[in-house]
Amino acid sequence: MGNAKEKQTLRPIDVHCHFFNRKEVSALMLISIIRMVKNAEIILSGKNSSESNNRQARQLSRNARSSLAFLMTSMHSPKRIFKKLSSYEKGFIFAPLMLDIHWLTQSPKNKEPYVRQTDVFSTIHAELDNISSAFQHIGGRRDATLEQRRISVEFRRIASSLHRLVSKKTFRDLPFINSSIDNFPQQEQQLTELALSHPNDILPFYAVDPRRSSHFSIKDDGSYDIEPLTRKLRINGGAFVGFKLYTPCGYSPTHPMLMTLYDYCEKHNVPIIAHVSGSGVTTLANELHIEGHVYLDGRLQQVNEVWHFDNKNLFARDRILEHSERLNHPMLWEYVLNHFPHLKINLAHFGHLPHSLEWTNYIWRMMCRRNADGSFLYPNLYTDFANIVSLSTLSEFHDRYFVTEPLLQNRFLYGSDYYMNLVYLNDMNDYVDNFHRIFSPEEFNLISVINPRRFLSLPLPDDKES
Ligand SMILES: [Zn+2]
Repeated sequence: MGNAKEKQTLRPIDVHCHFFNRKEVSALMLISIIRMVKNAEIILSGKNSSESNNRQARQLSRNARSSLAFLMTSMHSPKRIFKKLSSYEKGFIFAPLMLDIHWLTQSPKNKEPYVRQTDVFSTIHAELDNISSAFQHIGGRRDATLEQRRISVEFRRIASSLHRLVSKKTFRDLPFINSSIDNFPQQEQQLTELALSHPNDILPFYAVDPRRSSHFSIKDDGSYDIEPLTRKLRINGGAFVGFKLYTPCGYSPTHPMLMTLYDYCEKHNVPIIAHVSGSGVTTLANELHIEGHVYLDGRLQQVNEVWHFDNKNLFARDRILEHSERLNHPMLWEYVLNHFPHLKINLAHFGHLPHSLEWTNYIWRMMCRRNADGSFLYPNLYTDFANIVSLSTLSEFHDRYFVTEPLLQNRFLYGSDYYMNLVYLNDMNDYVDNFHRIFSPEEFNLISVINPRRFLSLPLPDDKES
């Protein structure tokens, strides 16, 4: 029986996509649109007005407009999102990752461990007011060109559309805006139902956040009982195949509860996917109780205290970078892997930073590291190309890393980050096409079929026999 394997083509897998229900998506989109508008304001209010500044601002206004249209029409169910993605990635299996967005707005105050930071809703309104007047100023400047006036008018229109949108009752009830609403149980239920009805097509990852106290208990000896989490796994009768971590939401990768989880996952070969990039959403809190390590000035610092962040502005790029660096620098993941060197973990997005290869190089060095006997130190460390929307970045990742070390080519995974990636794309077809332009059919087969199957512990054809 052993060799009687059926000859059939194995299906490709998108190991990083999202079928969040609409409430999470809308909240994330709102943040990213406001950030686009803010970036345009920064570009246009600079002293020297060059054609390249105008071009960037025009591009941002196009992105903001398409995201806004997307936001307003993104009220689909997870099932419809799944069907939609299936129309682009035909024949694929999907690994949708949950996101526990509830904690974005939480921070410590007084004796209560986690309460709402500020009124995020009124902060957004005030920010939109600022944006409108900033663009009014830019457009009314004596030296403003016709083009700059035109762009300013466009952005004031976008700001007023956002104003109208966030004033609606449906928006006030979003979990992100109204932190008394916890949408996580509904998100879990919807994805579980979808996965159970498509067990061969959907391999979901469960979102973990050490602030969600229902996911664990602390035993008398101070150790963590994580059974509420591990029973979510398919290997234990649940619907999920692995865990998703998104530490910039406001926790350290080395939180003791997570260290217990890594221990379990390493022993049972359970895959973890961790967001590692300099963009995306981060906590909205200015101060947070953090237990575990934070990265500061080139080294790790162990803390169990309220941590104060420097950047207070809700929509500043620096705020996102600061939170990402403190809570998600690859050095933190290196600490985790030093304790659990055989942990099967995908440090997603290949550590992509907007303006540097620092994190990408860091992850690459970790992947390359070897023991004295020549074996790899972290043999189950993977990365993915999710949300690498720029053709030149994808090409750089391919040429500088992927092709240079044949022994590491089995650690790269295809992922789309669908629907998050749509913010940066005109058409999802462009995303898929980019991969076919950069990767040869054999290479694409490796990152989308063979490697994901190994990562997800699915059977592989025993092609190594000689
Ligand atoms: Zn993602």
